[in-house]
Amino acid sequence: MKKIIIANWKLNPPTATKAISLAGAIERGIKKIRKAEAVIAPPSLYMRDVGRVLRRARLGAQNIFWEDSGAFTGEISASMLVSLGAQYVIIGHSERREYFHETDQEINGKIRRALKGGLSVVLCVGERDRSKEKFLQFVKQQILAGLKKIPRVYSKKIIIAYEPIWAIGTGDPVSPDDLYEMTLYIRRILFDLFGKKAAHTMRVVYGGSVSSKNAASFLSVEGVDGLLVGGASLDARDFVDIVRSASFL
Ligand code: PEP
Repeated sequence: MKKIIIANWKLNPPTATKAISLAGAIERGIKKIRKAEAVIAPPSLYMRDVGRVLRRARLGAQNIFWEDSGAFTGEISASMLVSLGAQYVIIGHSERREYFHETDQEINGKIRRALKGGLSVVLCVGERDRSKEKFLQFVKQQILAGLKKIPRVYSKKIIIAYEPIWAIGTGDPVSPDDLYEMTLYIRRILFDLFGKKAAHTMRVVYGGSVSSKNAASFLSVEGVDGLLVGGASLDARDFVDIVRSASFL
C-alpha cells in the first residue's frame, strides 16, 4: 500500500489567494510522484478553491459535525464536505479536544456521520505526557471510545493518526523506536476491535513535528503507513519533499 501524507493546514494561511497559491505549488511539486498519496486539509472556507487546484492530492477537511442538517449554527456536515469534493476528514485532533472540549462521545458521533457520508476518517489519538505510566491505556481508551460500535466494514475507511500532544509543534518528535512500539500497540487494539485482516491493512500514521529532514526516519518504521503534517505542510517545498521521501519507501 502506498504511504499517505496528510497536510493539516489548521487555521492557515490567512487568505484564500494564499491558500490557492500554496495548493498550486504543492500540486506542481507532487505531479510526478506516483508512489505516495497526498491529502490536503485546508480550512473549510477554502475547500472549494483549493479543491479546484488539486489533481494528484485529495481534499480533506479538518472537522465535521455529527448531524447532517438542522439547527446547528456554524457547523459543517458530511454532505457539505462531500459536495465540495472532500474525501477525508480529520477527527479528534488534540487541538479540537483541548480548545473546543470535544469529548470521545462527540468524536464517535462525528466518525459515524463521516463514514455514513462516504468520507474516510483520520482519527487522531495521543497522550499529553509520557512520564505517566498510563499513557498506553490513555491511547487505547481514545481509540476504543472513538471507534465504539463502528462496524468492521468501515475499517478500510479509517486511518489512525498517532499524534502525541507533546510532539505537536514542539520540534521534539517521538523516537522511531517508541513509534514502532506504539504502532504495534495500536494494531493490537485494532486486532481486538476488527480482527486480523483489518489490523494488518488499516493505516496507522504518525504526526508531531514532522519535517522534510526527519520524515524518512518515521516512514521507514515498520507498520507506519504515512504522516500527518502540520507546520511543515505550510511550506510547499518542505511538504513536497516529505511526499517525495514517502515515495522512496
Ligand atoms: C498536527 O497538529 O497535526 C501536527 C502534526 O502538527 P506539527 O506537524 O506542526 O507538529
